Amino acid sequence: MVLHGFSMTLFAPDDVPARSPASTRRFLYPLVFAVLIGLFTRLLASAPPEGEPPLPTESPSLPLPNPADRILILAPHPDDETLSCGGLIQKALRRGARVRVVEVTSGDAFSVIAHRLYPDEPFSPSLFLRLGEIRMQETRRALSRLGLPSSQVTFLGYPDSGLHRLLSTHWSRPWRATRTQAIRPPYNGAGFRNSLYTGESLLNDLTAILRAERPTVVYYPHPGDFNQDHRSVAAFTLMALNRLNETPGWTAPREASYLIHGGERWPWPAFAMTGAPQRLPLPMRRLPEERWRSLSLDSMESRRKRAAILDHRSQHASLRPAQFLNSFARGTETFSTRTRSRPTPEGAVLLEPAEPVRSPAFDGAADLVQLQVIAGNRWVRIRSRLQARPSPQMRCRLEIRTLEPEGRTRWMSMEGTPADRSADGGSCGLVGNAIVWKIPRERLGNAHAALVSVSVVSGRRPVDRTAWTLWSLSYDKGKRSRANINLPRKSDRVERRQ
Ligand SMILES: [Zn+2]
Repeated sequence: MVLHGFSMTLFAPDDVPARSPASTRRFLYPLVFAVLIGLFTRLLASAPPEGEPPLPTESPSLPLPNPADRILILAPHPDDETLSCGGLIQKALRRGARVRVVEVTSGDAFSVIAHRLYPDEPFSPSLFLRLGEIRMQETRRALSRLGLPSSQVTFLGYPDSGLHRLLSTHWSRPWRATRTQAIRPPYNGAGFRNSLYTGESLLNDLTAILRAERPTVVYYPHPGDFNQDHRSVAAFTLMALNRLNETPGWTAPREASYLIHGGERWPWPAFAMTGAPQRLPLPMRRLPEERWRSLSLDSMESRRKRAAILDHRSQHASLRPAQFLNSFARGTETFSTRTRSRPTPEGAVLLEPAEPVRSPAFDGAADLVQLQVIAGNRWVRIRSRLQARPSPQMRCRLEIRTLEPEGRTRWMSMEGTPADRSADGGSCGLVGNAIVWKIPRERLGNAHAALVSVSVVSGRRPVDRTAWTLWSLSYDKGKRSRANINLPRKSDRVERRQ
């Protein structure tokens, strides 16, 4: 827009006849500015900042879809499908694959956008329901531009900004959505109109979709995404896949996860660059275990993706969301193919992709660098190591969703400081730079596996946290179940901030 404004000045007829010094300046300054902007853009597009390893486009390519593929894309909010998979959808459809997109929520709690669209109207449930309808319509339009008919799009209508509640405290007791006041999907045509807003319902609905679609590949949010809805969709997907993977006759699909909210400098830079590759934050690139794969879009595909991003018009009503969306208009799409839904006792490695929010009070003491789960016959120990020795006042939160026989599950959340020594149902303490939780086995029921995440909390705000990871808790005498998660080294982060 800036450049367009300058070009209007440049070629305005009034400027042509009189070449006074003032008009020359008016001619030259925009030109120099435009050239500098062009050079800067090329620099960002082509040259990695000093000291950085090769760009992810040089990492292996994502296998191209084939006609036998049945692709399932799970999106937490309307627009995530376009941002993450707008190019993939086009390629898949052109190559004869089947694609289904499932929107878990309708994005109906975004108050910033609601205020922009209806500035004179006080917030009310009906206003947020209208926003949900608008966002669903925008998604249909965007996907239709990408070639996907609306019959292949399912909206579940779960509560925007409420999925972590469902995963945690509202597993079987319905949650009332703060903005819409609904306790079940309020939209006509929702995938499962009678499902209550509970974790149990969402897990059942996702399992039913997976069973019906029998996908060959599932795309879902990265379990370390910093947005709670995104992380929660990943956790529910891991649970559903794990449940199905134990079913006879079920063929486990391939999995790929995409990152939308990755903390500082992701996505970056914050504007559209359809010719440039999507660039991952440095610590993520350095972890080969993530097995990042990139998909190159041709110029037609990236142009169409850009147009589909603009189809989410409501999100462009405010500058910051608009910038955020536009920064996914790139020449590549990037996916992690590491995440496994089977619980693995050995060597599971997963990064925590978002770097900690800067917190001078904690600095390295808030920086989670390793997570380890050790399952014994009487105790399960969870050890989270930090970059520096935590202060006794720093609070850490451990969250666990267990997987038990016959679909049973329980939730545990423990928060404490190393000085507390005891937390709800277990104990926690400081060993070197690590906070170690010790939980009696019976507190976890008959759990054979568990989803685990650890956060460092400042006030009520998480400063750093690990991705949701599925761990095996099966105990083998003589060989304790043990797995490590190695997180990016501190030095990577320091380097990246420069
Ligand atoms: Zn989202």
